[in-house]
Amino acid sequence: KMKSAAAPFRETLQKLHRDHAPINSGAVASYIPELAGASPDWFAISVVTADGLRFDVGDSDRLFSIQSISKPFVFGLALEDHGREHVLSKVGVEPTGEAFNSIVLDEATNRPLNPMVNTGAIATADLIKGKDQAERFKRLMEMFRRYIGREAYVENATFLSERATGHRNRAIAHLMMNFGMIEDRVDETLELYFQQCSVLVDCHDLAVMGATLANGGVNPITGERALKAEYVKDLLSIMLSCGIYDFAGEWAYRIGLPAKSGVGGGIVAVIPGVAGIGVFSPPLDEKGNSVRGVRVCKELSERFGLHVFESG
Ligand code: GLU
Repeated sequence: KMKSAAAPFRETLQKLHRDHAPINSGAVASYIPELAGASPDWFAISVVTADGLRFDVGDSDRLFSIQSISKPFVFGLALEDHGREHVLSKVGVEPTGEAFNSIVLDEATNRPLNPMVNTGAIATADLIKGKDQAERFKRLMEMFRRYIGREAYVENATFLSERATGHRNRAIAHLMMNFGMIEDRVDETLELYFQQCSVLVDCHDLAVMGATLANGGVNPITGERALKAEYVKDLLSIMLSCGIYDFAGEWAYRIGLPAKSGVGGGIVAVIPGVAGIGVFSPPLDEKGNSVRGVRVCKELSERFGLHVFESG
């Protein structure tokens, strides 16, 4: 459908970009200098279809740290490494309704509630296999490479800042180790978690990552499989129920697309079978979601009837 409509669709995205550029609400994340230095004017929209058509508008090649958008993808790697049953014994799939850095664990099982909040993401990072830390890191980077279709890099300054300021994440990790939910290698696992958050991507990369999930786990640009087909639905369902911080329920209801946001200002959304959407704009609302990102996705969803349960 989109192929025949490529030119008008590009114009639609350009108009969306023009219409949303003047928005000036929200605040750029400021907990580390690397994020605080972002311009509130940076703004990009990218769409990549499951058959590899690409649409990029605005600052689509400006690099930023992926932050929490890494979480579903690392969850996928953990599933490949251990299988569903073991992973689900370490992390649940229940929305929290709480902020991303909530310290709450499930009372009955001591599991983090889901892999999209920090507790669950750290438990997920713990599951990345490798004979030593270097191999775990390489496997993490390989995973990102398959999704974005080029070498993945960690921005060292962001990583060092995350590590230096991550006291709450450190506390969470120690609490989980106390409960035996993660292995006795907290510092290594925290480093991997901070590194996964500090991977550099641009808005186009986000759309390719989304398109890879839309395309059953195969990157539509490179043709390389990034995720076993059987786990695509695991990522998409957790993104639909838990991907947008404590706005996740509202997002699922109004926009109805599996998605994940990060404090760097990115949002990735997936139209299953059809396309991936990336939006990048650093100013965040009070829940930590890109203000322009949420509005652009809402408008795209409404305009094209993209809600996964749309039937009219
Ligand atoms: N590095 C951030 C943290 O763990 C991730 C923030 C995010 O994107 O939600 O605090």
